[in-house]
Amino acid sequence: MKLEEFEIIYNQDRVIIKDKEKFKNDLIKILGKENVLSDELDLFAYSKDSTLIGHNWILEGKIAARPDFVVLPENEEQIINILKLANQEKIPVIPYGEGSGVVGGAIPVRGGIIIDMKKFNSVIEINDKDLTVTVETGMNGMNLERYLNAKGYTSGHIPQSIYTSSVGGWIAHKAAGQFSTKYGKIEDIVLGMKIILPQGDILNFKPIVRKATGPQLDKFFIGNEGTLGIVTEATLRIWPFPEQRALISYAFPTFEDSLEAVRLILREHIFPAVVRIYDKDETKRHFLDVENANDKVMIIFVCEGNKEVVQVEEKITRNVCENNLGVNCGEEPVEHWFETRFRVTETSSSPQYSLTIDTIEVAVSWNNAATMYHNVLDKVKAIKGVVLFTAHVSHFYPNGVGMYFSFGGVEMGEETNFDFYQKVWNTTMKAVLESGGSIAHHHGIGINRSNWMDEEWGKGMDVLRKIKQILDPNNILNPGKLFGNIWKRGA
Ligand SMILES: Cc1cc2nc3c(=O)[nH]c(=O)nc-3n(C[C@H](O)[C@H](O)[C@H](O)COP(=O)(O)OP(=O)(O)OC[C@H]3O[C@@H](n4cnc5c(N)ncnc54)[C@H](O)[C@@H]3O)c2cc1C
Repeated sequence: MKLEEFEIIYNQDRVIIKDKEKFKNDLIKILGKENVLSDELDLFAYSKDSTLIGHNWILEGKIAARPDFVVLPENEEQIINILKLANQEKIPVIPYGEGSGVVGGAIPVRGGIIIDMKKFNSVIEINDKDLTVTVETGMNGMNLERYLNAKGYTSGHIPQSIYTSSVGGWIAHKAAGQFSTKYGKIEDIVLGMKIILPQGDILNFKPIVRKATGPQLDKFFIGNEGTLGIVTEATLRIWPFPEQRALISYAFPTFEDSLEAVRLILREHIFPAVVRIYDKDETKRHFLDVENANDKVMIIFVCEGNKEVVQVEEKITRNVCENNLGVNCGEEPVEHWFETRFRVTETSSSPQYSLTIDTIEVAVSWNNAATMYHNVLDKVKAIKGVVLFTAHVSHFYPNGVGMYFSFGGVEMGEETNFDFYQKVWNTTMKAVLESGGSIAHHHGIGINRSNWMDEEWGKGMDVLRKIKQILDPNNILNPGKLFGNIWKRGA
C-alpha cells in the first residue's frame, strides 16, 4: 500500500495552504533547508501520536491526520518567525515533543506545521545550592534522568513513557510520574519556564520558589497542551539520589480495604515514593505467582530517601497495613514491578487480534473513590463487546487519588472499532462526572476528552475560551484540541 493511499481519519476542517511551494520557501528562509521536511514518509511519521487506537488504524490502512510540513527549529527566534508566518496565513502550528501522548494532543487534525522540538535538547545548568536543573524542553526524559543520576541527583519524575517523552510534553500534558506520591507531579516540579505565545511574544517566569505576585500566571500555562504557547525552557526541582530504598507489598481482601490502608498512611504525613493498588483482576494479571495475593488486592510501596527517614516510613507503612487486614507479600512483587515497569507489549500485540484497547486515568477524592470505581466498572462492563475492564490506583494525595482504568474489547454489529472506542471513553467520562470525579488525572485532554470539558469546567470553560481568543486570535496554535469538539458524544 502506498503512503498516499492511507485513509485519513481526521480530515474535516483541514486548512488549505494556497501556495504550498511559496510557503515552503518561506519556511526554508526561516529555518534552512535541512530543518524543513515535506517528504511523504516524514509527514506519515508525524501523522499520529501514541493514542492506542492508532495501532489498529495502521493495520487497517488508516492514519489519524496529515501535516503539511514538519520543521525542526534550533532557536527561539526561528519559532517566533514561524508563528509570525503562520499568523499571516492562518496556518495551524502544532508543537511536538516525542509523540508519546495518548489522547491525540500532537495529532495535526487541521494539517499545518508540526514544530518538532527535538533540537532543543541541552541541559543549561544544574544549581546544586538551589537544587534545580534548567533544560531546553525538547530534552528526552530518560536522557535527562541519566544525566542527573550520573551527577548524583534525580528529578523524581519517572513516567512510564520516560524513554519516549520530552520535558515540554510533560509540562504541556501535565504529566505525573511513577514516584509522584513523594516527589509530586510536574506542576510541583516545575519552578520556572520560558514560553513563546501564539503571536511571538516571550514570557519568562523566574524560577523562584513562591511569589505573592497576583494569580499564578506561570502555573496557568502548565497543561496548556500546546494551545496557548510553546515552552522552550524549564527549571525543574531535583533531589540528591536516594540513599536507601525499602520495597514493601501487602495484599488486602477488598479494593476498599486497600484504599483505606493507603489513606491512613498518608494521613500520618508519610509519603512512600511509589504506591500502587491493583484491583483483583490486575493483581491476578501481574502477580499470579504470589500465593498470599490469591483472590486479593495487591499494594506495592517503595519508600526512598535518607536512610533513617526510610526506616521510619517503612515501619509506619507496615504497621498501618498489618492493622488493616494486609497480608505481607514480601519484596518480590516490587522487584517484579521494577523489572517490568516500562514494558507495554500488549499495546502493539492486541490490534493483530482486532482487539481495541486503551487506558483512561481520572481523579477523585477519598470520599468518592470506591463509589466511582464501582460505578465506572458497572457502566463500562455493561457495554456489549467489552471483554476486559480493570483498574489500578497509582497517584495518591492526603485528599484523594488518581485512578487508572484499562479496557479491551471488540466492536459489535455495524459499529466500527472507533465507534466502540469512543463509546467506552464517553461512558467512562460520564460515570466519573456522575461520581464526583474529574475527567483527567495526567494524560491531558487532547481530542479524546475535549467534548467533556464544558461539563468538567462549567462557566470556567467560557473563561478559558476567552483567554484563548485573546492570546491566539487566529486560532493557529494546535487547533481542535482542549477547546475542540471533534468526537461524537454518544454516551
Ligand atoms: C507507554 C506509555 C506510558 C505512559 N506513561 C505515562 C506516565 O506514567 N505519566 C504520564 O503523565 N503520562 C504518560 N504517558 C503519556 C505521555 O507520555 C505524556 O503525556 C507525555 O507528557 C507526552 O510527552 P511528549 O513529549 O511525547 O509529548 P507529545 O505527545 O509530543 O505532545 C503532547 C502534547 O504536548 C504539546 N507539546 C509538546 N511539546 C511542547 C512544548 N515544548 N510546548 C508546548 N506544547 C508542547 C503537544 O502539542 C501535545 O498537545 C504514557 C504514554 C505511553 C505511550
